[in-house]
Amino acid sequence: MSTSTVNGGISFWYAQEGLPAPREPLPGDTTADICIVGGGYTGLWTAYYLKKAVPFLNITVLEAKFCGYGASGRNGGWLYNGIAGRGRYARLHGHDAAVRLQQAMNDTVDEVVRTAAEENIDADIHQGGVLEVAYTPAQLERLKTFHAVEIAFGEKDRALLGARETADRVRVAGAVASSWTPHGARLHPVKLVTGLADTVAALGVTIHESTPVTEIRPKHAVTPYGTVRAPYILRCTEGFTAGLKGQRRAWLPMNSSMIATEPLPQSVWDTIGWDGREALGDMAHAYMYAQRTADNRIAIGGRGVPYRYGSRTDNDGRTQPATIQALRDILVRFFPTTAGVRIDHAWSGVLGVPRDWCATVTLDRSTGLGWAGGYVGSGVATTNLAARTLRDLIQQDSGQSGPTDLTTLPWVNHKVRKWEPEPLRWLGVQAMYAAYRGADRRESRGRTTATDRVATLADKISGRG
Ligand SMILES: Cc1cc2nc3c(=O)[nH]c(=O)nc-3n(C[C@H](O)[C@H](O)[C@H](O)COP(=O)(O)OP(=O)(O)OC[C@H]3O[C@@H](n4cnc5c(N)ncnc54)[C@H](O)[C@@H]3O)c2cc1C
Repeated sequence: MSTSTVNGGISFWYAQEGLPAPREPLPGDTTADICIVGGGYTGLWTAYYLKKAVPFLNITVLEAKFCGYGASGRNGGWLYNGIAGRGRYARLHGHDAAVRLQQAMNDTVDEVVRTAAEENIDADIHQGGVLEVAYTPAQLERLKTFHAVEIAFGEKDRALLGARETADRVRVAGAVASSWTPHGARLHPVKLVTGLADTVAALGVTIHESTPVTEIRPKHAVTPYGTVRAPYILRCTEGFTAGLKGQRRAWLPMNSSMIATEPLPQSVWDTIGWDGREALGDMAHAYMYAQRTADNRIAIGGRGVPYRYGSRTDNDGRTQPATIQALRDILVRFFPTTAGVRIDHAWSGVLGVPRDWCATVTLDRSTGLGWAGGYVGSGVATTNLAARTLRDLIQQDSGQSGPTDLTTLPWVNHKVRKWEPEPLRWLGVQAMYAAYRGADRRESRGRTTATDRVATLADKISGRG
């Protein structure tokens, strides 16, 4: 790692924007109509839509650190239409139900873009779609299958591109094909989350920061500063959920790490292209995701050390030197002309992974407890769909409306079993990612077009397949 690379400090996005002025902690015991735990995209979008629907609602958001401290302030800025668990939902509820879910996700990308514009949140949004490339024979086979499956789930406007058409968009070394969907945009994660927090606060939602909730019980959110009593308590804590009392084996906190280069000169962009600012990904098992930022850097991410023993989470975003090197290797492998560029920043964050890898949104009508998450790596858009769904579920529960298109989607009120106790949890995740990395290496060397068997097995063992 170069000595000029900043490691941690939450994320590059915060280094660019500066940390927001802190909001006051909870002053003592109080009441609300709705209490939201967690000030990331899920919590803030939920507060937004509820307050817009019923302006007199008294809504309190409790945030352990500051709004956007978690994945919402650290992600890759891919606003896209992927949702974790669609395949399983198709098996459980039928193909048509999963197509409706996919359609809702496509609409969600537009909803975020439209709402950000309406609320004057300038989050560097560029709607250039998502381009996923293949550069080995096995990846090419997976790409073709992936493309066909997406079309079968109703994405008729997706395009399969050959080597030349791919290069016309982005010149990834050795890319033989790609799949492009218009349902995606690149954005600046922190500009979105801080803009959202300010918007929600201006609407009259109360936000308390530096207020960690230690326990959630029906009608109670307990903190060291006092307890909020409310008929509805919504848990929006994603990768941090295991830190709450009674939730240790719920969603597993999985790390993802990123690096951001210095702004690249036009001479380098001339060799890369990428004028369409597509969100860029690949078909590797240990996949990468990248964006061209508004100030012409490349921000690129992938898995680092995937999981820490005992579901431990945070160190303000520091990541391991080996991870930084691995991401740099991917960058240079993709774009050889970046070999000499400076890496300005490296960081990591946690995402929430349920035992069956399916995102969910739930309101338990008997207790008033709700939650949304388990988005795995696809939360920038999904959080918005979750928030509108929580709004509808609460309105339905309080008798203000009946079921809606959103409350009947197949991910609503889905139940999932807990993760195994340690050390099995740690061993399982380590083994799975070792298997993915090994499979990628073997596929890169070989001419085989079959997806490596070890990776297929890893999917099955982890519950991902
Ligand atoms: C490095 C990285 C890159 C990613 N890239 C992408 C991407 O490009 N596209 C995409 O779609 N998804 C991506 N994701 C996933 C996406 O960022 C998340 O799914 C999404 O931000 C989740 O939002 P959230 O509000 O549910 O959770 P978070 O943003 O994690 O928010 C949870 C909040 O709850 C607070 N909190 C936790 N515990 C408590 C408590 N006990 N009391 C009070 N507050 C608490 C935390 O401080 C935090 O602010 C990425 C994730 C990471 C880590």
